[in-house]
Amino acid sequence: MTNSAPLQQTHYDVLVIGVGSMGAATCYYLAKQGVKVLGIEQFDIPHEQGSHAGQSRIIRKAYFEHPDYVPLLERAYQNWQELEARTGHHVYFKTGLLYLGLHESDLIKGVRESALKYQIEIRELSDWQLSAAYPQFRVPENYTTLLEPDAGFISPEKAILLYVEQAIHYGAAIRTKEKISGWEQTRTGVTVSTDKGQYTADKIILTAGAWAGKLLPGLASRFTVTRQTLAWMIPSEWKPYEYGHFPCWVIADAAKPSIYYGFPALPVGAFGGPIGLKIGHHAHGNPTDPDAVNRKIMPEEESNLIEALNQFIPGAYASTYTMKTCLYTNTPDENFILDFLPGTDNRVILAAGFSGHGFKFASVVGEIMADLALKGKTELPIGFLGMERF
Ligand SMILES: Cc1cc2nc3c(=O)[nH]c(=O)nc-3n(C[C@H](O)[C@H](O)[C@H](O)COP(=O)(O)OP(=O)(O)OC[C@H]3O[C@@H](n4cnc5c(N)ncnc54)[C@H](O)[C@@H]3O)c2cc1C
Repeated sequence: MTNSAPLQQTHYDVLVIGVGSMGAATCYYLAKQGVKVLGIEQFDIPHEQGSHAGQSRIIRKAYFEHPDYVPLLERAYQNWQELEARTGHHVYFKTGLLYLGLHESDLIKGVRESALKYQIEIRELSDWQLSAAYPQFRVPENYTTLLEPDAGFISPEKAILLYVEQAIHYGAAIRTKEKISGWEQTRTGVTVSTDKGQYTADKIILTAGAWAGKLLPGLASRFTVTRQTLAWMIPSEWKPYEYGHFPCWVIADAAKPSIYYGFPALPVGAFGGPIGLKIGHHAHGNPTDPDAVNRKIMPEEESNLIEALNQFIPGAYASTYTMKTCLYTNTPDENFILDFLPGTDNRVILAAGFSGHGFKFASVVGEIMADLALKGKTELPIGFLGMERF
């Protein structure tokens, strides 16, 4: 880290604004190619104020949101493997993923569509097969159950740290606890101002997560930041819910237009805290200012998650270990934005609006951002994620 370096105006080839999920991978892919890169992060790396904290993020390929994401996911899986091979540390953990919902739900229809189009292995489980393989689940008889065996989760904090460490090994400068207050395009590049100084760069990449709208006031209306909650629960019996015995899962509750999801209980020796099995509700929370998030948990937020567990996975809940807040940055269509910012002569590049489903893509987004900055284009199919759709 270079936080003690004297403050002076310094020039970089590329400056990355925000070193969280996407920014960490972006710094790595840039530095690896020998360019002079500076990543600036307002907090520590990683931290709990943004969108990446919380021990685990689901990764899956039979993408119900949109089949066009699948080629990017193929590359994301490869890139996570490359990070593991380079560092000798695991970030991807295969658990299998159960999808449960009505036959006609967007979840089940979308999973089938992507799996069919891209030959992704999924298995339909009968009620009998589900109870034989995963007796922990109790779902209504008219629900369909699909299993994606190659899905699992990524450890987000570890992945971010590994990318930043590798970026530094390749010569990247990373500054933490330094807040960017604004940027301005000049005739020859971009000037970035922070609470500690000023920098110039040929290009900047904005990977500012929930703060993207604050740094792009003209686009702020495209981003709705919402406060989300998640919980770690202590099960009545440990073994059936442990990593190795229990899958990741996603349930489209027919009674509510939204999705519950969860993970096995992860051993803290290998994964750190919190203790217990994690559950979340993928439905927009209340809009919030990322600099003024109410971190206090409401009783109804806890009871919502307990009720879902009691309904679909009875036995998974004996007590609540802890709950936390996290931020989604939602675009109007809940698809990402990966593009040049119009009117900036391709000097400003944006990776934003990950709408609660972006982490699994961080490894490919880093590569795409480096492509756009260094080659002015990418071979990866991101046409559907362009700015012009808004
Ligand atoms: C509860 C929850 C569950 C989720 N589950 C999943 C899942 O299972 N699978 C999945 O794929 N995705 C999941 N996601 C989504 C995923 O975590 C996000 O899409 C992803 O982390 C977004 O990455 P980001 O880089 O945009 O944001 P962040 O990781 O938050 O990074 C942005 C960074 O920019 C920094 N920054 C911003 N402004 C400034 C500034 N002015 N100066 C300096 N630094 C600045 C911030 O401090 C931050 O570190 C989940 C998200 C939440 C909240």
